[in-house]
Amino acid sequence: MNFDFTDEQKMFKSALERVVREKIEPLLASYPEDQPLPRDACVKIRETLLPLGIHGSRVPVEYGGSGLGAVGLGIAAETIPYEAFELLMCMEVVALRICMGGSEEMKRKYVPKIMNGEKFAASGTSEPDVGSDPRGIRTRAVLKGDRYILNGTKIWVSAGSVADYLLIVASMGKDEKGGNIITPFLVDVKESPVVVKNLDLMGIRQSHICEVFLEDVSVPKENIFIGAKGHAHRILTGSWLSQRPVVGLCNIRLAQKAYAAALKYSLQRHQFGKPIASFQLVQNMLVEMRTLIDCSQLLCYRALTMFDEGKRPDVESSMAKYYACEAALRVTSLAVQVHGAFGITKEFPVEKYYRDERVLSFPDGTIDIQKLIVGRELTGIRAFS
Ligand SMILES: Cc1cc2nc3c(=O)[nH]c(=O)nc-3n(C[C@H](O)[C@H](O)[C@H](O)COP(=O)(O)OP(=O)(O)OC[C@H]3O[C@@H](n4cnc5c(N)ncnc54)[C@H](O)[C@@H]3O)c2cc1C
Repeated sequence: MNFDFTDEQKMFKSALERVVREKIEPLLASYPEDQPLPRDACVKIRETLLPLGIHGSRVPVEYGGSGLGAVGLGIAAETIPYEAFELLMCMEVVALRICMGGSEEMKRKYVPKIMNGEKFAASGTSEPDVGSDPRGIRTRAVLKGDRYILNGTKIWVSAGSVADYLLIVASMGKDEKGGNIITPFLVDVKESPVVVKNLDLMGIRQSHICEVFLEDVSVPKENIFIGAKGHAHRILTGSWLSQRPVVGLCNIRLAQKAYAAALKYSLQRHQFGKPIASFQLVQNMLVEMRTLIDCSQLLCYRALTMFDEGKRPDVESSMAKYYACEAALRVTSLAVQVHGAFGITKEFPVEKYYRDERVLSFPDGTIDIQKLIVGRELTGIRAFS
């Protein structure tokens, strides 16, 4: 059993850490913390990170993928601030999904433009009334002549307000058993305009999580995912399988930052004539934080390694995401506790980690949904409804 990264992965991680320290963090700090980054800043982030290949991690090499794999994407998630990582991650997911379910023509037309850094991309599945159960999707796609006409509203679309390509999951009606026929469609927003509105969240406020309004949006009929017609869940669950531990590691990045800040503060802050780190109860918090982080990393990288080895980590992936999110919620909260009342001021970074973490536990399925998936795999019984 090997618990370490390969030499290549270690080199990738240290190159990434340097770029984040020297370029990405200063760039993020030069913009207001409470507003989505302007497009030119997003372009700068993309240009800076493009040579590292994150946006092509799981994309097949024949379509321009970088071969970093799911573990490489996980390393990036754990290293890059989410506000910047979001842009690359969403490009990667859309390119991967096109490769999984798009026609050969779609793969040749759209994937290279994402891979060469010309286009941003985002995925819209969730709707105001549809969250954990995507089978209820209401956005409609109706074929009229040689175009599909899309109508509906998507919400929580990450990187949605900068995206050039939107992957929209829509319903094509009901099958003979009354089931919703849901299918992804690719919308090139330059040719088929949509209306977007950034959401004002409590955390990760420089990111671009938005609502997308589709009103008679007309797309060429070739932009349907032929490999997933009526079976969008195959594409969604196929990519979520390795995506969920990646999101877990985004959460763990915040936990690590919070832990480091708490450790530093506990050694500097004196009460009763001693550093607070010398009190057993404070050490207990630090030990719990560090243990939760280590366990989460092991679970996430185990699932990602399985995926890269061609195995299906059905249990391991959801277990990793649920554990990492719960761990990060606890760790960021404990970090505030170690700081006492100063922890809730803007003077220290832990209040931001706490707010950011509250937001980041939701993407790609809540903690409860991950537990239900693991429960289903263990017992063979679906306890969703
Ligand atoms: C930062 C961020 C980024 C996101 N990015 C995207 C994106 O790019 N594209 C996209 O399509 N979506 C995105 N989402 C949406 C995300 O996938 C949903 O928030 C998530 O799937 C949960 O849906 P919901 O918020 O509507 O909660 P709901 O489904 O309404 O759930 C509410 C509560 O009920 C619980 N619950 C629901 N069903 C059950 C059940 N059967 N048993 C027990 N408990 C249950 C949930 O666990 C939760 O606690 C993003 C969300 C966030 C916060």
